[in-house]
Amino acid sequence: MSVSTLTPVLSAQWDATRSWTLATYEAGGGYAGLRHAFTQEPAAVLATVKDSGLRGRGGAGFPTGLKWSFLPAPDGGPRYLVVNADESEPGTCKDVPLMMATPQYLIEGSIITSYAIGCHHAFIYVRGEVLHVYRRLLRAVEEAYAAGYLGKNIMGTGYDLDITVHAGAGAYICGEETALLDSLEGLRGQPRLKPPFPAVEGLYARPTVVNNVESIASVPAIVMGGSDWFRTMGTEKSAGFGLFSLSGHVVRPGQYEAPLGITLRELLDLAGGIREGHELKFWTPGGSSTPLFTAEHLDVPLDYESVGAAGSMLGTRALQIFDETTCVVRAVTRWMEFYAHESCGKCTPCREGTYWLKAVLRRIEAGQGSMEDLDVLLDTCDNILGRAFCALGDGATSPVTSALKHFRAEFEQHITAGACPLDPAASALFG
Ligand code: NAD
Repeated sequence: MSVSTLTPVLSAQWDATRSWTLATYEAGGGYAGLRHAFTQEPAAVLATVKDSGLRGRGGAGFPTGLKWSFLPAPDGGPRYLVVNADESEPGTCKDVPLMMATPQYLIEGSIITSYAIGCHHAFIYVRGEVLHVYRRLLRAVEEAYAAGYLGKNIMGTGYDLDITVHAGAGAYICGEETALLDSLEGLRGQPRLKPPFPAVEGLYARPTVVNNVESIASVPAIVMGGSDWFRTMGTEKSAGFGLFSLSGHVVRPGQYEAPLGITLRELLDLAGGIREGHELKFWTPGGSSTPLFTAEHLDVPLDYESVGAAGSMLGTRALQIFDETTCVVRAVTRWMEFYAHESCGKCTPCREGTYWLKAVLRRIEAGQGSMEDLDVLLDTCDNILGRAFCALGDGATSPVTSALKHFRAEFEQHITAGACPLDPAASALFG
């Protein structure tokens, strides 16, 4: 596998000098997609995105163009685009570098999307902790206004659009689209009941498209290149390119932009492999909310269908890689501490369930667990899965059930030996 496997589109300009400025973006062909979009009717732009087969890059993989087409017919009232830039899934680090390196890609994508869906006010909701991204986006939006890409009568077309950049306050739950909308409205961020989906009743109870940063940033290239070009990459049902984030025990961690369907083995070839002298033990295909994979899954194509068929989910393509020095009980316990802390508390299965999972896992990790605790873990997961108000609860069960499936013996060792069999310092990932 060589670097020719990579398909740099979103990341093509990341190494350019002052890549985040409008001048560099335009010099690299930026805003040609918008110009091209304006030569077409909005419905034609929507059709291109729908035909491309682009699926939501935030994790769930819902078809983007289809989501746009769910908006009810115009009734004279406002309709909104809300870009979900609240990237928080453990291990996920693709939207932040994208917005830091080439924020104009997201802005151009937001303008084209807004034009396609008939929106005149778009919002970008940024995770509160990443103040540097917030500042960069504010500046990029300012530049776009000054150049006439935003505001009234954009490029003389008669089309008007404003973009508001809003920073959250640092809650994982606000990445859940309806909690995000509540937060944007000034309420406490907690998920709403779906349906109605935001496409029908979203921000201020108006039709709203909520899309991830990477999905929207992919739109200019799709509009320029066409749906057939996009479909030359990826697989039939998982078309196109995507950013794969490799972290953990890998020689060259970072973002690798490649067609969907690439395997971890191929990505590891590009990333220099597992750190020297060590071997792969387990990994997450799409963040900690997706069931763990092991070395036996190295050749699973990383597309929605294949990952699903192998027992996990593609999710956010956050590939967290752990070698044999990592204690899986410790890893799962750390993740559960995160979920218990971030559970919004609205529903009982998630609020109480993540609390108890954390307590039992901590006991086992400390060597004070019992064999019954393993049943308690699985039983608690059973009582969360499918019963929680939103995906946070379901996601929290994934590392537990998959770790017990693949590494039950390691849990049992903690219980029988009364201690962790591994040296935590050797892993250096979970302190
Ligand atoms: P979901 O499958 O419920 O919805 C996905 C999208 O499709 C939503 O925008 C939803 O509104 C839309 N949708 C689904 N059915 C629809 C319908 N019938 N009509 C109109 N719209 C419809 O998934 P979700 O709960 O929004 O997200 C779960 C995913 O979030 C997980 O797969 C996980 O990977 C991901 N996630 C990502 C992060 C991150 O930082 N990027 C963090 C946590 C979780």
